[in-house]
Amino acid sequence: MAVKSSTLFSSLRDVPLLTVPMANVTVMRLDREGGAAPGNKSFKLRHSLQRARRQGLRRILSFGGAWSNHLHALAAVGAEMGMETIAVVRGGEVDTPMLQDARRWGMHIVPVSRTQYRRHSDPEWCEELAQRFAPCLVIPEGGASGDGVRGCLEIGRLIRDSGRRFTRVVLPVGTGTTLAGLVADLEPDIEVVGISALCGARDLEQRVLASLDESGLAPRASWRILHHYHCGGFARTNAALRSFMLAFEDAQAIALEPVYTGKLFYAIHAQLATAAWSPDEPILAIHTGGLQGRRGFPWLSGDQSG
Ligand SMILES: *Cc1c(COP(=O)(O)O)cnc(C)c1O
Repeated sequence: MAVKSSTLFSSLRDVPLLTVPMANVTVMRLDREGGAAPGNKSFKLRHSLQRARRQGLRRILSFGGAWSNHLHALAAVGAEMGMETIAVVRGGEVDTPMLQDARRWGMHIVPVSRTQYRRHSDPEWCEELAQRFAPCLVIPEGGASGDGVRGCLEIGRLIRDSGRRFTRVVLPVGTGTTLAGLVADLEPDIEVVGISALCGARDLEQRVLASLDESGLAPRASWRILHHYHCGGFARTNAALRSFMLAFEDAQAIALEPVYTGKLFYAIHAQLATAAWSPDEPILAIHTGGLQGRRGFPWLSGDQSG
């Protein structure tokens, strides 16, 4: 994937948002890169796809919900590379705009019950699925794997190559795979701060360490995860988040979605508003994409042009 660094970084406009100045926040616009699979997901998938190719496999299977950005990206990138893709989808709902896109790109959808889905990381079930669709590479839910972490090292490299200096690099966290890649790549004087999109995912830190270990990488940058900006839980919103997002989009002309990037900027704004972080320090916010998911939130306008 060719990334144009001239448009990759942009500063927030110098307009105080709800009285908080945010002009020292730079945004890394991964949402504008990656064609049909923008954001962090194509970084997470690239090594798995290369592995499949090396092994002569032309079929890839993975797991997710009906609004999964991971499945959406897998369908897009798989189609580009001429690979067959299969999605094992949780729950009854398989007619979301996200899965409609995925089907259009040739993805084969296999709906399973919520109970059955819970076994998505059970090696026995993964092996069964690999046999049923053989020959086939199975990628874990959310692209959470050593390959996924190694692919995200590239995001760190893009930050270092920009020659810009930041004291903090802030990004939203689901599985922690992207954060792990950044922590392995960035310098020790940078603090990588993850904003958890989930409520009470207290094992996230352990999962980050385990995924670094699995990839044969060690943490370099200092890092932590903030757990109190979930705004009601995964894919949930509250009134404060919704009004913040509308004000932010209006002031900054940058589109967000409520699952990850809305909570990211909401958290940065709150950290600045409470003086936990100084408005003078150079902060990098990573816009990890996901804008295709806006279609699940009717209170947002449909315009994704940001
Ligand atoms: C998947 C996703 C994340 C979370 O990435 P992890 O590597 O799972 O932590 C963040 N933002 C967006 C937009 C995503 O789609």
